[in-house]
Amino acid sequence: MNDLNDILRAAHCAARWHSNQKRKGAAAEPYINHLLEVAAIVADATGGADADMVIAALLHDTIEDCEVPVPLLERKFGARVAGLVKEMTDDKSLDKAVRKQKQIESAPHKSPDAKILKLADKISNVRAVATSPCPDWSVARRLDYVAWAEAVVKALDAAHPDLEREFAVAAHNARQAITVDDGEA
Ligand code: ZN
Repeated sequence: MNDLNDILRAAHCAARWHSNQKRKGAAAEPYINHLLEVAAIVADATGGADADMVIAALLHDTIEDCEVPVPLLERKFGARVAGLVKEMTDDKSLDKAVRKQKQIESAPHKSPDAKILKLADKISNVRAVATSPCPDWSVARRLDYVAWAEAVVKALDAAHPDLEREFAVAAHNARQAITVDDGEA
């Protein structure tokens, strides 16, 4: 088996495990769209040289959203991938506000690879707030989300300068889209 086999095996697992899940935005895209976007961002950021990172990106929400057991991930994709997915998993038994605060507090203590995955995830999520926001989110809630994502990225503490720049562009564009500022005012 080579890297390509492993990556596609992970993509297939992700598609099946998340098959009933849609993104929260108005377009209700299949969840796999988010996973493929994050994986593509990570593949670019790592120069296409780290298959485990791309696999971890594809699987990053499988514990949190699909309750895939860690030993199963270990068996199928190895300890490094399973460990990274674990690092990407929030404790869902906690209240949402506590979980969000914890993401900021735990960010500086993540491994360098998990920081890259986090950055890619936040880029994808902030882009989604601009292009397909959750219909029941108010303007204030959308702006709050962008500000929170910025706080997490700041706490990641210069994990990957290129991705940080990409995130800054996404956050800027999201704010413009949310406030409908098309530069003509
Ligand atoms: Zn995600």
